[in-house]
Amino acid sequence: MKKPISTGNCGLCRRKFSKSAMTRHLKSCRDQSSTTPAESKGVAPAKTFHVLVEGRFLPDFWLHLEVPAAATLEKLDRFLRAIWLECCGHMSAFTIGGTRYSVSPNRDSFFGGPREQNMKQKLYEVLSVGTVFEHEYDFGTPTVLKLKVVDERERTGGSTDIAVLARNDLPSIVCETCGQPATQVCSGCIWNAPAWFCDKCAKDHECGEEMFLPVVNSPRVGTCGYCG
Ligand SMILES: [Zn+2]
Ligand SMILES: [Zn+2]
Ligand SMILES: [Zn+2]
Ligand SMILES: [Zn+2]
Repeated sequence: MKKPISTGNCGLCRRKFSKSAMTRHLKSCRDQSSTTPAESKGVAPAKTFHVLVEGRFLPDFWLHLEVPAAATLEKLDRFLRAIWLECCGHMSAFTIGGTRYSVSPNRDSFFGGPREQNMKQKLYEVLSVGTVFEHEYDFGTPTVLKLKVVDERERTGGSTDIAVLARNDLPSIVCETCGQPATQVCSGCIWNAPAWFCDKCAKDHECGEEMFLPVVNSPRVGTCGYCG
């Protein structure tokens, strides 16, 4: 079966692009839309990073973010939890250039690994254009994200919030029994097919109703108690 191409809409011009074309498109689309408003003259521009985020093992889930360079890792962590990850308050950590930045750093390197840092660092202190890094949420049943700083630019009079520049469309996942669109995933079988079903075929799956989670637009789909 041929895998469908992952697509999404540009948040600026609303046009649809494939995942592979979106990074390039956003560069030109943002060039055109970044006219400095008159009232912000004299205000110092602030650096922002364009960050591509994708599921490490489910790359059809992706986000393009504009993140103020002065934001902390903690702020980015909170944003990723809110849009994609949060189920029951698990721990999380970034890994950047071999250093781990954790919500609750292990000061005594309990696992024999390097001492962890906290998430108070500002992005410009640890990232630059081209940096590839990871975010892990929930160390028991982890969702791992791959992040890349694609670009940076100066933006005048912008807000200090993180903005979504583009986001994937819900991947078209079909029921592995009948081929209709899948609506539920068995959390016990997610890494061993068949696990994706429509409502009707889910009833016949041996694991039982309580193992099912809804199909949602997040790389944490089907994990722990995540319902979107
Ligand atoms: Zn656009
Ligand atoms: Zn959970
Ligand atoms: Zn079905
Ligand atoms: Zn199952």
